[in-house]
Amino acid sequence: MDRQQEFVLRTIEERDIRFVRLWFTDVLGTLKSVAVAPAELEGAFAEGIGFDGSAIEGFARVYEADMLVKPDPSTFQVLPWRGENPGTARMFCDIQLPDQTPSFADPRNVLKRALAKASDLGYTFYTHPEIEFFLFERGSAPGQPPVPVDQAGYFDHVPHGTAHDFRRQAIGLLESMGISVEFSHHEGAPGQNEIDLRYADALTTADNIMTFRAVIKEVALEQGIFASFMPKPFAEHPGSGMHTHLSLFAGDGNAFHEAGAPYQLSKVGRQFIAGLLRHAAEITAVTNQWVNSYKRLMGGGEAPSYVCWGHNNRSALVRVPMYKPAKGQSTRVEMRSVDSACNPYLAFAVLLTAGLKGIEEGYELPDEAEDDVWSLSESERKALGIRQLPTSLSEAIHAMEESELVAETLGEHVFDFFLRNKRAEWQDYRSQISQFELARYLPML
Ligand code: GLN
Ligand code: MG
Ligand code: MG
Ligand code: MG
Repeated sequence: MDRQQEFVLRTIEERDIRFVRLWFTDVLGTLKSVAVAPAELEGAFAEGIGFDGSAIEGFARVYEADMLVKPDPSTFQVLPWRGENPGTARMFCDIQLPDQTPSFADPRNVLKRALAKASDLGYTFYTHPEIEFFLFERGSAPGQPPVPVDQAGYFDHVPHGTAHDFRRQAIGLLESMGISVEFSHHEGAPGQNEIDLRYADALTTADNIMTFRAVIKEVALEQGIFASFMPKPFAEHPGSGMHTHLSLFAGDGNAFHEAGAPYQLSKVGRQFIAGLLRHAAEITAVTNQWVNSYKRLMGGGEAPSYVCWGHNNRSALVRVPMYKPAKGQSTRVEMRSVDSACNPYLAFAVLLTAGLKGIEEGYELPDEAEDDVWSLSESERKALGIRQLPTSLSEAIHAMEESELVAETLGEHVFDFFLRNKRAEWQDYRSQISQFELARYLPML
């Protein structure tokens, strides 16, 4: 047993932990959990614990498949909302095949492979997510519009507001689990909030996002309200994105930084953006995986619809944020399409490999978009070479099906499971007769 594993076992003794939840994530980004008694852990560290690994395939699972969960002791944390004496803890797990090799169906392993590729090229990948979500009153009927907990707007201070207490409690829990929060504020829509996690290496960030979602749901339950990461609950208000800031480090230095270059952006940084842009359409099914995701991307509210980059341009897909000249280390690029309901492991993996492709192939960065691209006409955008992001899950699936980059990054299994899930979802959606159709066509036709 190594030191970290020993530390876990000792902490379990000392803090009277009776349940240890082993967490992993399915291809759709749903958190899965199996609780074990502490006595099982020594065996789990050594050999893993057997379970039906098809749980990882999402809704479209087919056969049972024997696999192992192997807890990662560096992710051990006590769950603060479960109370003490006795307490509950959790560890993220890697999924293995019965012969203890990594499972190719495991999203966490997909990200690890992509990170290993970056590391072969000399880079570490850091991410910083701005996570937006809604708080609603409990008890609205299924299928009916939800009722937001307040009517506040962007950066509003709401005295005695629900959101205020909510953010304070959520941030307290996150910090007690070692997850640092950088900013939090009310967002643009009623009941909408944003909490930004401090940047960390991408695997840690992805684990943190999974924990974040669990914490937000728990705090909402406790406060008698309901939290949702649904990308676009209201047609008339902005949706919830998860703008993600990306940077590569080579050793201690930020590889995107070059003093004196435009926006302090190095050649590597420019090529990385060029990779994100060139491969934007084919990775969108992963970064925006639900039918509803496309209502956000096509609905304004500062969510991107077109493939271009810019500096202070909030209509752009990729933005290079304001830099602080004294802090070369903070040079980064912000990918704005990603939504809060993606699988963060898979999303970070495809963002990374798209950017790395730009570096490996030496892609040229197109000119930046200086205008508000939403206000341009179709032909003006065409003249500027600005393409549209996929406008529906169906278009995004088609773009992904053709993508060597995504197939290679996800690996055959996850690629197939993911597409199978998404085709089934699109089929379900397509077979509905919507309110829109009834209201428009019954009287008219
Ligand atoms: N909610 C917007 C989106 O969906 C972002 C708003 C903002 O943070 N400027 O992307
Ligand atoms: Mg923000
Ligand atoms: Mg925001
Ligand atoms: Mg942002």
